[in-house]
Amino acid sequence: MQTENVRVRFAPSPTGPLHMGGVRTALFNYLFAKKHNGTFVLRIEDTDTQRYVPGAEQYIIEALNWCGIVPDEGVLPNGTPASEATSRHPYAPYRQSERKPVYRKYALQLVEQGHAYYAFDTPGDLESLRKEAEDKGETFLYNHSVRDRTLNSLHLSSDEVARRLEENNSWVIRFKVPEDRTVTMQDLIRGTVSVHTETLDDKVLWKAQDGLPTYHLANIVDDRLMQISHVIRGEEWLPSLPLHYLLYEAFGWQEHRPLFAHLPLLLKPDGKGKLSKRDGDRMGFPVFPLQWLSPTGELSRGYREDGYYPEAFVNLLALLGWNPGTEQEIFSMEELIEAFSLDRVTRSGARFNPEKAKWFNQQYLRNRSDARLVQDFIPLLLEKEIKTTPLKAEKVVSLVKNRASFVNEFWELSHFFFIPPVSFDPGLQKKYWKPEIPGLMKQAREVLDGCVPFDVPSIDKSLHRWMEKAQLKTGQVMNALRLCIVGEPQGPGMADIMAVIGKQETLERIDHALKTL
Ligand code: GLU
Repeated sequence: MQTENVRVRFAPSPTGPLHMGGVRTALFNYLFAKKHNGTFVLRIEDTDTQRYVPGAEQYIIEALNWCGIVPDEGVLPNGTPASEATSRHPYAPYRQSERKPVYRKYALQLVEQGHAYYAFDTPGDLESLRKEAEDKGETFLYNHSVRDRTLNSLHLSSDEVARRLEENNSWVIRFKVPEDRTVTMQDLIRGTVSVHTETLDDKVLWKAQDGLPTYHLANIVDDRLMQISHVIRGEEWLPSLPLHYLLYEAFGWQEHRPLFAHLPLLLKPDGKGKLSKRDGDRMGFPVFPLQWLSPTGELSRGYREDGYYPEAFVNLLALLGWNPGTEQEIFSMEELIEAFSLDRVTRSGARFNPEKAKWFNQQYLRNRSDARLVQDFIPLLLEKEIKTTPLKAEKVVSLVKNRASFVNEFWELSHFFFIPPVSFDPGLQKKYWKPEIPGLMKQAREVLDGCVPFDVPSIDKSLHRWMEKAQLKTGQVMNALRLCIVGEPQGPGMADIMAVIGKQETLERIDHALKTL
């Protein structure tokens, strides 16, 4: 496989928020480009005016940026000076709607050379053709059997065609799929794929109404003009590959045709079908990198807002459909670039496992230094109007981080370090608050009061010495103490908790419990 002068592109359409599968496509393109010292281009394919969604382009850019998948070339931030634009971005513009004048000549060239034709069918005509096929129990294909009997430039006189082109702009240009041929294609992941042209549609290449090419034409022209060497995209585009091969042929560009790699689909957790937003909503996980507020006001959750680290998100995406061939699971971006190869991309769909996704974040969280975690935790504490010292926050973080997958779980796991219990867990109370307990708690209070210094080893030692002497059961005493100090059956060891909150607070909590319980 050619790996010199690698130029790949990520070419999303701004039709909504980028799905995590789209981010994976961008990531694999990026890794491939970086691995081979190539160029990663971001091109926005916005020629479908009907499906255009405001804000989607900005979303795509922000999402890639959050993931650290930074284009070398591509859609420019508004206001980039022309001088910089041409030197750094030789193929600009990269937004297809700004490349309108580029495509026209290619569409006309195909018509002139007989590879495409003007079609004048009305929506009504198309509907009855579809109905006719369905009545016969067939799926509707717009192919030679249709084009031979519809109004188009293949049989109308040139005057008639000229008149109709003038008359209104509801015409389109369709590709004339060659009859009775087998198109044989190479895919870097799937090997040789053959398709008979009998199964292909005369796809629309140009819509007069928009004065714009459709995806197929714009995509091929741009890949050629931007000198794209490899097309790495989702499996959903595999059915378009024969048409794309035929377009390269029609333009006489076979020699410059990029190599293709179609990435496996991301599947639902049960492996049955494509992962959709609905699966996420149903099972409680995001399918979008960032939160998205749709123009109709519907809010979809995002990995970023759910508390994922971008490194963890990138790591988990990388292993959806690719494996390094070793047991290694945790990869930094640099390691991914080093290890990545298209050879190790799988053919079968990649099943998404939401629990495993959390596991990835947990691994990254555990590897963060306590000082780093404190930086993320302090804002959460401020939100709750908790004043604390960095030292205390760091101690708390070190005690709870192994129980969390996300920093946003820290509060739930640690609130009792900062505020005394407001109520006492009834189950715990029933089980452990026996008649002899208040007396024992008073003794424990005394033992703790005399404990100097008030740190974990000395708290442990004093309590154990007392319990041994008085022949008390450790479980009984410790659970009762937990009820007094934490109020619920959770948290790290009691000595750890008491050492962090300090002697005074410990004694006050015991006093309060003795009064209340
Ligand atoms: N604009 C297409 C999309 O939205 C790009 C497909 C391709 O990469 O060729 O996914």
